[in-house]
Amino acid sequence: MTFHAFLIKYAEIAIKGKNRYVFEQALVKQMELALDNVEGDFRVVREQGRVYVYCPDEYDYEEAVTALTRVFGIVYVCPVMIYEDNGLEQTCQDVTDYMRQVHPDYNGTFKVYTRRARKSYPVGSMDVSARAGEAILDAFPQARVDVHDPELTISIEIRDRIYVYSRTIRGAGGMPVGTNGKAMLLLSGGIDSPVAGYMIAKRGVEIEAVYFHAPPYTSERAKQKVVDLARLVSRFSGPIRLYVVNFTDIQLAIYEKCPHDELTIIMRRYMMRIAEILAKKDRCLGLITGESIGQVASQTIQSLAVTNEVCTLPVFRPVIGFDKQEIVELSRRIGTFDTSILPYEDCCTIFVAKHPVTKPLLNVIQKSEGKLADVIDALMEQALSSTEVIEVSNTAPVQP
Ligand code: ATP
Ligand code: MG
Repeated sequence: MTFHAFLIKYAEIAIKGKNRYVFEQALVKQMELALDNVEGDFRVVREQGRVYVYCPDEYDYEEAVTALTRVFGIVYVCPVMIYEDNGLEQTCQDVTDYMRQVHPDYNGTFKVYTRRARKSYPVGSMDVSARAGEAILDAFPQARVDVHDPELTISIEIRDRIYVYSRTIRGAGGMPVGTNGKAMLLLSGGIDSPVAGYMIAKRGVEIEAVYFHAPPYTSERAKQKVVDLARLVSRFSGPIRLYVVNFTDIQLAIYEKCPHDELTIIMRRYMMRIAEILAKKDRCLGLITGESIGQVASQTIQSLAVTNEVCTLPVFRPVIGFDKQEIVELSRRIGTFDTSILPYEDCCTIFVAKHPVTKPLLNVIQKSEGKLADVIDALMEQALSSTEVIEVSNTAPVQP
């Protein structure tokens, strides 16, 4: 059995008035991007207040469903069979055929719901439902009609042709990427930041990412892991522009000139500063991190405050109140966990002090940063001008 199309259901609440157009346009674009990965020529079409995907004659159903259920903004994906309109008698037969294929030996309760998108159809929708219901009862003697609380609803849509569907597959929810601006994700190789990126993309925000790399202290493999993580997130968010900033010289300067118990916090402030410069250049309206209160020394509420002080853009920290276990569960669900736990060093772990300050004072940190005054502008300039840009999308395979 091959379904001819998918009917896409999305949350109506968010899209009153003129927002509807923007919402649907972004939705269609993201669906097309997701389906690019699936073999076959899918056509995404908006018609009469609905979004359909018309499928090629042959395609991989599971892959198509997986791709569509990753697109934010979709609440349900309904696989549809399409029949020619050769009169009501034939439609009743088609509906029972549909039942035989999709729900063979059906013996539960059901109702038929008909919607007439083509108003010129000569029979009223209640009558179509009643006639099709009778035909199903004849063909499935064990089945029973229950119009109030049916186990199965068979929907008939009368358009230029007759569309029949009954399955609803839950989608990713959220809003289509592209409906809520753009933000810059600080993406490390850890568990938390990919989850943070996923959560903000789910609100319709387009994502760019920046990774701070410290060769030779961090390896090419560590960088590749971040590229792979960006790719995994891009299955949901769509393409991600990833900046790889060479952070070694800045880290070495901090290491050389600043108190070692303050290394992490000062380093994090420079990461935020650089991320913000890249963000503003690309018109991102916020930064995103995977920080969570109290998870490590650099994420005490005092540390977060001192880190935040260098930012003028809003910083979104969607996992701020999550326990590690909750973040792990989400990372497993979105498929980033196995890559995140691969054991490659991260630039924070190499320069980390044995006893980092947990309650940094802003004026103390600012004073320590003052020791970098002679060199830091040139180092920042150098880091920015040598930044590598990688366009990451879900079309290339993830390396093992
Ligand atoms: P994660 O699991 O995301 O690596 P973490 O628990 O290791 O987080 P930290 O190392 O304190 O936490 O980093 C906090 C946040 O700072 C990360 O979630 C990420 O957003 C950002 N970050 C840390 N290191 C880097 C890096 N090398 N490049 C880009 N962003 C980074
Ligand atoms: Mg980390």
